[in-house]
This record gives sequence, C-alpha cells and structure tokens, in this order.
Amino acid sequence: MITTNTDKAKQVLENDGIIGFPTETVYGLAGNALSEKAIRSIFQLKNRPLDNPLIVHVSSLDKIDFITENMPNKAHQLADKFWPGPLTLLLKKSDKISDLVTAGQETVAVRIPNHPIALKLLESLDFPLVAPSANPYQSISPTSAKHVADYFENELTLVLDGGFCEKGLESTIVGFEDDDVVIYRLGSIPLEDIEACVGKVKMNTGRDLKSPGMAKKHYSPKTPLIVTKNIEEVLQRLDNRKRSIVCFDQLPNVQEMENTIFYSFHGDLDFAASRLYSLLHELDDQNLDILIFEEFPNIGLGKTINDRIKRASELK
Ligand code: AMP
Ligand code: MG
Repeated sequence: MITTNTDKAKQVLENDGIIGFPTETVYGLAGNALSEKAIRSIFQLKNRPLDNPLIVHVSSLDKIDFITENMPNKAHQLADKFWPGPLTLLLKKSDKISDLVTAGQETVAVRIPNHPIALKLLESLDFPLVAPSANPYQSISPTSAKHVADYFENELTLVLDGGFCEKGLESTIVGFEDDDVVIYRLGSIPLEDIEACVGKVKMNTGRDLKSPGMAKKHYSPKTPLIVTKNIEEVLQRLDNRKRSIVCFDQLPNVQEMENTIFYSFHGDLDFAASRLYSLLHELDDQNLDILIFEEFPNIGLGKTINDRIKRASELK
C-alpha cells in the first residue's frame, strides 16, 4: 500500500481513484479535481460535510489560469514570494471548477506545494488535484505515510510515500476582499511573513463559516487536551492522572512524577511545528487521561501552534 512509485499513483488518479499524497505541510487525500466521482469519494472517505471546500493543487503558475480568473496584484506578489510552498490563495474560480470543490462559493482555494514527489506527480497529470488533509473529519492531520495508512487501511490502495512532512502544519490560507488581504487560516507561513510581503492583513473570524478550517473544534486527538500558561497550577489540580506535559521550552520545576510523560520542544518553533502532529499521534496511542500543553509564545509559528492546540482542546 505504501509506495514511492509515482506511475502507479498516476494510474489510480487517472481512473478516478484516491491516493495518499505527500506534501511539505501534511499528507493529503488526492483525487482528480475535475472528476465528480473522485471529489465525492474524498468527502465520503473523510466523512467531511459537503459545505467544507477543498484545496486544488497544481504544479506551476501557468496552470492557475485554467482554474481561476482575475488574480489580484497582491495575490501575484504572494505567489511570487511563497510558491511553491505552504501558501493557499482564495481566487475567483473559473467555470472548470465545480461547485462541489468550492462548496458553492465563488472562490477556489489553490496551492503549489513544495515537495519533489508531489510536484513530479502533478507535472505528469493533465488535471489538477484536490487534496484535503488525509485524516477523518476533525481528527489529527497526518505527517507521515504511515499515519495515512493507519487511518485508511481498508479504504486506500495506495499511499505515496514522501517521508515526514517538513513543515508539519497546514498551509496558510489567504483571501482578497477589495483591497484587503484576509487570513482565513493561520498556517506554516507566519503571519508576519505575509505582512512583510503585502502589508497589514485582516483576520477572518470564521464566524460566517466560509472557511471551516477555522471551525472551533478541529485537529483533535481522542485524549482530552488542555492548554495553559501555568503548568504547575494545573498539576496541582490534576493529581495522579496518567498524563503528558508538553512544554515549549523549560520543563516545570517539579519532582519526577509517576504516570507522567514529559516532553519539551527546546524552545524551537520550527521544530515544534514540524513535530506537533506526530507527537499528538504518539501521545494519543498511550491511553493517557489527559494531555497538558503549555501555551506557546504568540509570535511567528507560535501563533499557528496556539491556534491548533486550542482547537484541539475544544470539547467534542
Ligand atoms: P484541508 O484541505 O483539510 O486543509 O482544509 C481545507 C480548508 O481550506 C477548508 O476547511 C477551508 O477552511 C479552506 N477553504 C478551502 N476552500 C475555501 C474557499 N473557497 N473559501 C474559504 N476557505 C476555503
Ligand atoms: Mg484538514
């Protein structure tokens, strides 16, 4: 099931099938973006509601014209700076893109991923790919081929192996309203880097549900998770439960405790971003009672990580 053979992957895709697809952000469930059958299979596999639109992946800028119209100047500036890379742009869709992909919206989400195998495969196809993250709806995104195979062992025939995802967090989603640049999802490109390119941006609150990736509960492990600024205080409250304590940098100054797995990201935001989901997968397999995460510094990728762990902490 797990393979590095892009020719086999191409064959599956050309027959409206679905594959596990490596990118530098997280693994996707990929299918032909122009095939209604493939699109429907993806929604079904993920158990994803049809009002949650998909991201379309292409290998180069010259393929964007086919699927979009009127790319704004600021979109060009961002594309020049960050593509291929973990940037998704919301652009006016062309009539080649079905309402099923965009959940009826006038915009389509587009990305050129920066992963050699993804690019090789996309270049070999004469259609773009839709590729939402390869996890059941609301669960933790996969950052290795094995994560995908574990989620979909009975449903997928092929997962294309591209190693561990270098970034490990989803793409940053950016839209355009009149002259404004609007962030629809924090992601692997820090907000500050987007603003350095196009100036001040606005945040989409997600309240209009145009971007369900901003839904309150998302990215969740099965184990309850809490986020705190004060680990010591939480530990006093939660005696004796089997737990993990995950810190950005310094571990708390407490005695060795039974029933506790300590973990630190050593103050390294890039490392923390690339490791976050795989750590959540590992901790979720340990049958713990609770995961306690220290809140991250609210800068750069720390903002994205706080966004994810806070959504992961929402009750089901
Ligand atoms: P995923 O593919 O799992 O990373 O999720 C894709 C996310 O992209 C969706 O949940 C939405 O939040 C966002 N998205 C995709 N298309 C659009 C769109 N046309 N408008 C707003 N948000 C979008
Ligand atoms: Mg997702």
